[in-house]
Amino acid sequence: MYDFEKIYQPKTIEQALKLKAEHPEALILAGGSDILIKTRSGKLAGSTVISIYGLDELRGVCIEDDGTILIRPLTSFSHITANPIIAKYIPVLGEAVDQVGGPQIRNIGTIGGNICNGVTSADSASTLKAYDAVLEIASVDGIRILPYAEFNLGPGKVDLHPNEILTGIRIPKDSYENTYGQYIKYSQRNAMDIATLGCSVNVRLSADCKTVERLRIAFGVAAPTPIRALSAEKAATGAQVNESLMETVASNAILDVNPRTSWRASKEFRMQLISELSRRATRAAVEKAGGKF
Ligand SMILES: Cc1cc2nc3c(=O)[nH]c(=O)nc-3n(C[C@H](O)[C@H](O)[C@H](O)COP(=O)(O)OP(=O)(O)OC[C@H]3O[C@@H](n4cnc5c(N)ncnc54)[C@H](O)[C@@H]3O)c2cc1C
Repeated sequence: MYDFEKIYQPKTIEQALKLKAEHPEALILAGGSDILIKTRSGKLAGSTVISIYGLDELRGVCIEDDGTILIRPLTSFSHITANPIIAKYIPVLGEAVDQVGGPQIRNIGTIGGNICNGVTSADSASTLKAYDAVLEIASVDGIRILPYAEFNLGPGKVDLHPNEILTGIRIPKDSYENTYGQYIKYSQRNAMDIATLGCSVNVRLSADCKTVERLRIAFGVAAPTPIRALSAEKAATGAQVNESLMETVASNAILDVNPRTSWRASKEFRMQLISELSRRATRAAVEKAGGKF
């Protein structure tokens, strides 16, 4: 048994939004893999909860008319990884969320919950940042569109108003088209551990695969929130595909980050990881794109 004050189970998105407007203090419950643990440990005991888990309208992945990939927030990690659209166009996202926890967590945990909890270690976050995801956020007042780049306000804090629910995550076609990505998660063991450091890179090469047309790189746990490394991206744009590319990305990435010391790792070790994972993820993404070193 969980110590909830009250649980609402709306049957439609409209009902859920109305309930959220009437009970702004209520927690939205998706897969519950964060909330139920915090409730059991007492941190969220006695909360009122609006469970959206039964709202199938908020589940699944599709391609819109203009080629945008729309991921609904209740899509579980397992379903993201197995989804043919994700596998075809942004496989790195499926690979990233396949590294979350263990099979049970990947079956129940949702991509929406992963970014709404606002933690820097969220395994989907760096890839979504690196693909310039755009969020659809709904309330009884209508829909608000927000770049994911602006969503994280601080550790555990996101730009969601008390009456709002995340209803969509979009990846624009010009962001994912002709790109190849690599996510590397460094953790103390392979399963059931959050990232000590996560790095997601995607690249688009020139037709002859000799020049970087565009490189995007984002990190988890390299700062209080998931972040893009814009200096590294700028330095890599137009660079030749050769051994010095990795050094260019790594030496600039460390200018963009601000990791902390925690019991998992010191700041100094994380800086070293940032440098090393930048190199490895860049090399792997470029090789997937057809680049030769
Ligand atoms: C054993 C274990 C291992 C884990 N390992 C990892 C790991 O390796 N990597 C990793 O990234 N995470 C890990 N997690 C964390 C967790 O599984 C994820 O963060 C998960 O994605 C949360 O999704 P959920 O649907 O379960 O969220 P919930 O617990 O239901 O909600 C999480 C938060 O998001 C809010 N929320 C959820 N959906 C919406 C929405 N649509 N609109 C507005 N607010 C919303 C909730 O109100 C709550 O604040 C682990 C958790 C456990 C228990």
